[in-house]
Amino acid sequence: MADADASWLRQRVIDAALDLTRTGLSPNMSGNVSAREGGSVFITPSGIAYPDLLPGDIVEIALDGRVLSGAEAPSSEWQMHCAIYEAFPEAGGVVHAHSDFATALAVMKREIPPFHYMVAVAGGRDIRCAPYATFGTAELAAHAVAALDGRRASLLAHHGQIAFGESVEAALHLAHEVETLAAQYWRALQLGEPELLSDEEMAVNVEKFRTYGRRG
Ligand code: 13P
Ligand code: ZN
Repeated sequence: MADADASWLRQRVIDAALDLTRTGLSPNMSGNVSAREGGSVFITPSGIAYPDLLPGDIVEIALDGRVLSGAEAPSSEWQMHCAIYEAFPEAGGVVHAHSDFATALAVMKREIPPFHYMVAVAGGRDIRCAPYATFGTAELAAHAVAALDGRRASLLAHHGQIAFGESVEAALHLAHEVETLAAQYWRALQLGEPELLSDEEMAVNVEKFRTYGRRG
């Protein structure tokens, strides 16, 4: 990849990470962001606060985790990011966040069911909750990939949420959508158990989202 393309991608990863801080989607140093180009993954370094990031801090790794460039250690969740890139060829960006409402549901091991048509924005009838595994492990990566089957986002039990998209910006946008849905579902639960949309209705919504919001 040309140097100019790589530095642009590093900046886009930083911009998404800064958004996590500014919007409160991931408090403090939690969460991580990556973008893929060809055989390279550009990922946030482990344990460095997002406002302190410089373009050179973004670590370039291969899909097997080998560091290709950068002096910092890659995010402890590099296996989860790389497993998603391996399993979903369309993935160009991944965002993992400990956002408040998604995490509140995830600590209760609650999925987001089809309480609202927007749940289909993640690609299916629901947004699953992957079983718990220790952070930064291949086991967590495998749980996440399984929960993402047919989806672009999932909750992670006792941890947070993960979303991917065609670009890092699309992944970030979806992570915000998941947090909005989690907050709305949590609020609805204060009034009782909401009635859910049928599988047939959600299939229609999933189909509509294939073209919704796309230019041209
Ligand atoms: P890193 O700082 O290593 O990316 O870890 C943050 C995190 O959210 C782990 O799940
Ligand atoms: Zn995490």
